[in-house]
Order: sequence, then C-alpha cells, then structure tokens
Amino acid sequence: MDINIAPIKNYEGKEIPINCEVNIAGMPGDDFKILEPVKILGVIRNFGGTFELEAKGTAKLQFVCDRCAEEFSSEMNFNISERFKEIERFSDSEDEENQNSDINYLSGDIISLDEYVYSNMVLNVPIKHLCREDCKGLCFKCGTNLNNGSCSCDTREVDPRFDILNSLDID
Ligand SMILES: [Zn+2]
Ligand SMILES: [Zn+2]
Repeated sequence: MDINIAPIKNYEGKEIPINCEVNIAGMPGDDFKILEPVKILGVIRNFGGTFELEAKGTAKLQFVCDRCAEEFSSEMNFNISERFKEIERFSDSEDEENQNSDINYLSGDIISLDEYVYSNMVLNVPIKHLCREDCKGLCFKCGTNLNNGSCSCDTREVDPRFDILNSLDID
C-alpha cells in the first residue's frame, strides 16, 4: 500500500487518515507466518515539514509452540511510529549536522507503508512462542504431547531435584 503525501506536503498540521489492510508476505527467516492482511488504523501528519506516521496495526500470526511444537495462531496489536523527511531538505549542510537516524528520507511523495508495517510488527513479535501459558510440552522420552494426555514414561530420575526429594523421603 502506497500513501501519497502530496496533498499535505505544503500544509503544516494537515493529515491523511489511514484505514486499510496491507498484504505482507513476510521474510525468509521469520519464525511466524502472517495469516491475514494486517489492519492499519492511523494518520500521516505534516508536522512542521516532517511527516509523522502514527498508527495501530493488528496482525494475525501463526507460530510454532516452543514447548509442544504445535502450530497456533494469535492476534497481535502493535504501534507503528515513523518519521519522514524529504531528501532535498536533508541535503542542506545544516540538516546534515542534525541528521537523525530515526528519520526516513523520502525521495518522492510516496510512502510505501508495507515495509514500515513489517519492521514495526517484527519489533513487537514476542521472542517466546507458547501456545498457552501453561503448555505442558512434549514428553522427552516418547514425544507424547502432554497437553493431550499423559504417557507412562518414568521421567522422575532425570530431574536431580526429584532425586533430592526422593532421598529425603523417610518412608
Ligand atoms: Zn504448546
Ligand atoms: Zn512419555
């Protein structure tokens, strides 16, 4: 989705509302799949010649659970916050001194929303993926998914904490 900022370019304080869905393919190496177009709601505002994108994104993502290896999907809300400046302004030596790495430089009137949606979304993807808070994971002996039922493996002896408990057992 491309946003043309020409209509607000020469009008400080003016804004362009954004209410759309963007199709984002994701990147190789992502540890999630994007299941649906990402919903975006916000504005791009001309703020003293800088263009500020402030929006909320809602994405439905699919992960593989770190514990039980089952796929699950979850909805994620995230903020999109970016600032843009025209590249011509940046070429003034004065502006070069004030160069700010938070600012994206535009060579035309088009802001390509997708890449900023993607980069802001990735920042918010949790590092840990659990299908649920109390996921029981897999039995390390037989591979049974312990969320679906128990297995008959004796797994007590491998956890040293249980050994200590057993040795303290006065029965
Ligand atoms: Zn799980
Ligand atoms: Zn087992």
